[in-house]
Amino acid sequence: MGETKQKVIKEAILPKKLLPELFEKLLPDYDIYGPVQKAKNDAYDIAPSVDKKAMDVRKKLRGNEFEKVETADILNLEYTSTVTPIKKFFIPPKEDIVKFELENLKLKSLEDLQPDVKPFILFGVHACDMQGLLRLDYSFIKGNPESNYLSRREKSIIVGINCIPDEYCFCEAVGAQIYDEGFDVFLTNIGQSFHVTVYTEKGLEIISKVELYDVDDTSIKEKEKALERSRSLEGSEKFKPDYHNMPLLSKSGDDLPFWDRIGERCFSCGTCNLVCPTCYCFDVNDVMNINIKDGTRRRFWDSCQLESFAVVAGGENFRASRTNRNKHRFYRKFRYLMEEYGKPFCVGCGRCGRQCVADINMIETSNLLYENVEKI
Ligand code: SF4
Ligand code: SF4
Repeated sequence: MGETKQKVIKEAILPKKLLPELFEKLLPDYDIYGPVQKAKNDAYDIAPSVDKKAMDVRKKLRGNEFEKVETADILNLEYTSTVTPIKKFFIPPKEDIVKFELENLKLKSLEDLQPDVKPFILFGVHACDMQGLLRLDYSFIKGNPESNYLSRREKSIIVGINCIPDEYCFCEAVGAQIYDEGFDVFLTNIGQSFHVTVYTEKGLEIISKVELYDVDDTSIKEKEKALERSRSLEGSEKFKPDYHNMPLLSKSGDDLPFWDRIGERCFSCGTCNLVCPTCYCFDVNDVMNINIKDGTRRRFWDSCQLESFAVVAGGENFRASRTNRNKHRFYRKFRYLMEEYGKPFCVGCGRCGRQCVADINMIETSNLLYENVEKI
C-alpha cells in the first residue's frame, strides 16, 4: 500500500500455462477476483445498424466485471475496462456499518459491524485503476482513517496487468499511466508468457508459488513493446489541456456558457459517479427490521449528479441545476481534490464517457473548458 514509486525486488517470466497451477496453490489462502467477460448478449446484439464484427471485439474488450474466480481459465486478462471499478471491494455499494437494538422504542444497544475479510488478490488491475485506488487511500486513510476501508485494504494484494486502451481511455494525459506505484506485482503480457515485475514481499510470496524463469534481453524488449502498445494514445492525444493547469482553468472558466449546454444534455442519472474509480460519496440510512426491535445503519453509494444530493433540511437545494451538478463533479476531479492531493482525481479510465447515455465525457468537457478560457 502506498504511492511512492516502488523498488523492483524481482523480475521474472511466468508462462501463461502455469496460471491454473498458480491459482490452485493460492486459493486455499486467498479469495481471488479478476476480470470476467460478461457482455456476451447485450444491447449491441439487437442494434441493427452496427458492424457485428466490430461490436464483437468491443464486447470482448469492454463488457467485463471483476468477479470472484475459482480457476484462471475464466479470466479475460485482455480487456479494456470493467464496468464497475475495483472500489467495490473496499467501499461496497451497500454496507451495514452499525447494528442497533431498541427497547420501548428507545435505544438499547449499538454494535459496530467490522468486515470479516479473508486476504484477497485482485488479479489483473490496470494502471488507471491502481491510481484510482491510491486516491481512495488518500481520502479514506489520511486524517481520520476509516476502519472498514483500512481493514479491507490491508488484506488486499494487487496484481497489475498492462491494458488494451480504447478511444475513451486518456490515463496518459492525466499522468495516471504508471506501472510502478501501488502494485504488489505487475504482469506484462508478452504472448505465451507474462513478464513479471515484483514490488513487494507479499507479491513475491504469491507469485513464487510456481516456477518462474529468468528474464533475458528478448523478454525485456517484448515487455517494452507491450507497454508501448498499452499507451492510451488515441484518447490522450484528444485531451488538449496540460492537466497541471486544470485547477486554474476551472477557476477562470466558471461562468462560461458551455457549462449550460453540458447541463442541458445531462439526464442526472448518476451513472458517471457509480462507475468512477475515485468517486466515493455515500449516504447513510437507518433500516428498521419489521419487528421494530432492531435494525442496521446502512451506508450506500450516492451520486452528486442526483437532484436530491445537495438538499438540506428545510428543502433548500444547494445544487439544484444540472449545470451546477456537472460542474461540481468536474471540479471534484480537477480542482478541489487536485489542489489538495497534487494530482487530478480523474485517472482517465474513460468509464464515465463510455457509460453516459448523453455522451458527456471528461475529454470533451476539459477541451471545451480549455478552448473557451483561451478565448476570454
Ligand atoms: S452519466 Fe451522463 S447523463 Fe448520467 S448523470 Fe452522468 S453526465 Fe449526466
Ligand atoms: S471522471 Fe470519468 S474518466 Fe475520470 S476517473 Fe472518473 S470515471 Fe474515469
